[in-house]
Amino acid sequence: MRCFWDERQRAHAPTAEFFNGKLHPAAEHRGRVDAILGAIGPTEAPVDYGSEPLLRVHSREHLGLLRDAHCEWLAIGRDGDAFPYTFPIVGRRSLRFERIDARLGQHSFDTATPIGPGTWDACYWSTQTGLAALTAVLAGDHTAFAFTRPPGHHAGRDYFGGYPYLNHAAVCAEAALAAGTRRVGILDVDYHHGNGTQDIVAGRDDIFFASIHADPSTDYPFFWGHADESRGNILNLPLPRGTDWSGYAPILAKALDWLEKHAPDLLIVSYGADTHEADPISYFELKTGDYSPMAQRIASLGLPTVILMDGGHAVVALGANVAEFLSGF
Ligand SMILES: [Zn+2]
Repeated sequence: MRCFWDERQRAHAPTAEFFNGKLHPAAEHRGRVDAILGAIGPTEAPVDYGSEPLLRVHSREHLGLLRDAHCEWLAIGRDGDAFPYTFPIVGRRSLRFERIDARLGQHSFDTATPIGPGTWDACYWSTQTGLAALTAVLAGDHTAFAFTRPPGHHAGRDYFGGYPYLNHAAVCAEAALAAGTRRVGILDVDYHHGNGTQDIVAGRDDIFFASIHADPSTDYPFFWGHADESRGNILNLPLPRGTDWSGYAPILAKALDWLEKHAPDLLIVSYGADTHEADPISYFELKTGDYSPMAQRIASLGLPTVILMDGGHAVVALGANVAEFLSGF
């Protein structure tokens, strides 16, 4: 299987994130990079597909903010990473702000996703790796893997959060449709709900999104991912903390049946290894050996498949978990 990665993705180097009342070391840190690269073998760098595929999903304002925020942050005398601290809870009116703090809050939903000097470069090239994997699959490869880092599934059309800034799955889905694919399925198997993906694709009749994730009444992102949001092209399958493979497998079968019913021509998988028992910010009990059967069941759909990397923060097990998942295909 061809694997894609670009060294410029290392440029994103957050040191801290703010939650539970204090700063913690960033869970989506550069240590993840070598853990995964060391386990998956040779990778290829993407070509530059430009910003047009990004603009099918994201607003110009959002891309501009990601590109400029850190420079503006420094320009007003701040140091370190740029953090939002206030959010438009009363509504996201189309107000225009100069003030960087207002714009950061307007385009984000948490304080765990700072913008540093290398963030824009890293997330731009992260999306390009996704597009490279898609291009390989559209050209005839049955399966390809993009090590998208920063990850993507929490990012909406014009907001970042949960470590993602750009939604690679949505960008790839739109690019596939633009290239002539008729229907795209997206399966999200990260521990957390892919709220950004759901938000972007809701209501579509050509993109079908199924997500298996921790119950948002106990887990991030809390405000999205509940079972009663399922309708039309969206299927949410929340599971309780403590779920192991015996509880996970039948729900995966349900998600795959639902996707198959919608007859996609292409599958995009948002793979998060944070369902592993050792993940420091997650509470499922999957073991490394469970990822191969998980992948085999997904592969049994027989669809051309683009695999994108989302979460996974247990660095000691991360490489093995990713390699095990890919081996299942
Ligand atoms: Zn996650």
